[in-house]
Amino acid sequence: SPILLWYRRDLRLSDHPALSAAANAGRPVIPVFIKDKSVDALGAAPKWRLGLGIGALADSLEGVSSRLILREGDALEVLQALIKETGAGAVYWSRLYDPDSVQRDSKIKETLCNDGIEAKSFGGHVMFEPWTVETKAGDCYKVYTPFWNNVKTRDVEPPLSAPSELPAPESWPDSDALDGWGLGAAMDRGADVVRPFVCLGEKAAQSRLGAFMAHGVADYKQTRDIPGSDGTSNLSENLSLGEISPHQCWHAAQRALHDGKQGAETFLKELVWREFAYHLMHHTPRMLTDNWREEWDAFPWNEDERRAEVKAWKQGRTGEPFVDAAMRELYVTGRMHNRGRMIVASYLTKHLMCHWRIGQKWFEHCLIDWDPASNAMGWQWAAGSGPDASPYFRVFNPETQLDKFDKNRDYASRWIAEGRANPHKDALAFFDAIPRSWPLSADDDYPEKIIALDEGRERALETYKGRNF
Ligand code: FAD
Repeated sequence: SPILLWYRRDLRLSDHPALSAAANAGRPVIPVFIKDKSVDALGAAPKWRLGLGIGALADSLEGVSSRLILREGDALEVLQALIKETGAGAVYWSRLYDPDSVQRDSKIKETLCNDGIEAKSFGGHVMFEPWTVETKAGDCYKVYTPFWNNVKTRDVEPPLSAPSELPAPESWPDSDALDGWGLGAAMDRGADVVRPFVCLGEKAAQSRLGAFMAHGVADYKQTRDIPGSDGTSNLSENLSLGEISPHQCWHAAQRALHDGKQGAETFLKELVWREFAYHLMHHTPRMLTDNWREEWDAFPWNEDERRAEVKAWKQGRTGEPFVDAAMRELYVTGRMHNRGRMIVASYLTKHLMCHWRIGQKWFEHCLIDWDPASNAMGWQWAAGSGPDASPYFRVFNPETQLDKFDKNRDYASRWIAEGRANPHKDALAFFDAIPRSWPLSADDDYPEKIIALDEGRERALETYKGRNF
C-alpha cells in the first residue's frame, strides 16, 4: 500500500530521512502538502514565501516522476480522507518542535496508529534532537556556550542523497491548485519588490551554500558583523522552510574548516545558535509568548501597538539611520542583517520601552526567513528577558553602532534615500513597497529623531532600577 509523505517545513528531496525511508520501502509514495490552520496563521511574508517554496518543491518532485498533492483542511481529516482514497497504509513526516505542531502531530500519530496506520516521524529539521542534549545534572541548557561545548564534537549524520525516482501510485489523488490557495494574498507590500531578493528552492539553496563556502566563509568571522557587506550566507530563508538541511550546511562548513577556512568555525557556531533556539523552545515552549525570565512580567512594557513611536519604528522613520535602514531593508527584502535585528530590537524594547512581543509579531509579518524559535529567542535576548540574554543595562547605541559597523555608511545609504542626490535603487524601492498610507516620500527631509538616545537610555535604566533583574 502507498506511503503518504506529509511535507511541512522540509521542502527538499535531498537529506530528507522521511523521504528516503519512504523511497526505500519499495511502495508507492504520495507526497502531500496540507494547508491547515498552522499555514493560515502564518504572517504575510512567511506565508507568501511558503507558497513559492511549495511551487518549487512540486517542480522538483516532477523531476523524480512524482507529484505534490495539495489539500486544504484539518490535517488529520485530510490525511484520513487521503488514506481512504488511496489505500495508503502509512504516513511519514519530518518532526517539528513548536508546541502547536507537537500537539497536532501527537494527536495524529495516536489516532492513525489506533486505526492500524503506520504513522512515523523522522528527524531532519535540527541536527541535535532537543531532548538528547543535557547538562551533567540531566537538565536542559539555558546558556549557549556550554550547549555549544556539548554538541561541537558530536557526530552529525552525513547528508542523504535525493532519490533519483520516486515510486508513483497507480493513480494520483486529486490536488488543489496552488494559486487557488492565495498564500500571497496578505502580502500587501509589493510582493514584486521583494521577489528579486528571494533565493527559491533546493537547488538555489545548494548553490548559495556552495558559493558561500567557496568565497564567503573564510572571512566570515570578520565580515558577518558588517551589514553593508555581503558577509553572511543568507541561508536562513532556506533553512526556515527546509529547502536545505542544517546537516548539509554543517558538513560543508566542516570541509571548509578542514581546508583551512577559519571563518567556518564561526559559521558552525551560528548554526548551533539555531539548534539552541530549538532546544530552548522544546524545553520552555512558553518562551514563544511569555517572558522566559518571569521576573520580567513586572516590567512596565508598553504593549500598545497604535502608539506613534511604534508606527515610526515599523515604518523606518525613527530618525536613527541604523534603525531606519534596517527596518527598510526588512520591508524591501523580507530579511534583515543580524546586526540590524539586534539594534532595532534593543531600540524598540529599551529606548522605546515597548514589549518585545510587538517586535516579534512585526518580524513574523515581514520576514521571509521567519522561524518561531530563532525569532522568539532573538527578541527575548535583545529585551533582556531571555535565558541567555543581553543584560538589561546593555542598551545598544545606534549611533556608535553605526560608527563601528557601518563606518563608510554603505548600509545606511543603501536603504535611506532622503537627503541624497543619487539615492541607491534599493532605498528607492522602499517607496514602491510601502502602502500609500505611510507618511513618507523620497523627496522629504530625513525624519527628526523621535527620541533623544540619551533620554531613552536613561528612562529605561531608571525603570530597571530597584527591580530584581
Ligand atoms: P549566517 O550568519 O550566515 O548564519 C548561518 C545560519 O545560522 C543562519 O542562516 C541561521 O540559521 C543560523 N543563525 C545565525 N545567527 C543566528 C541567531 N542569532 N539565532 C539563531 N540562528 C542563527 N533567524 C531566523 O532564521 N529567523 C528569525 O525569525 C529570526 N529572528 C530574529 C530576531 C531577532 C530580534 C534577532 C536578534 C535575530 C533573529 N534571527 C532569526 C537570527 C539571525 O538574525 C538570522 O538567523 C540571520 O541574520 C540570518 O542570516 P544568514 O542566514 O545570512 O546567517
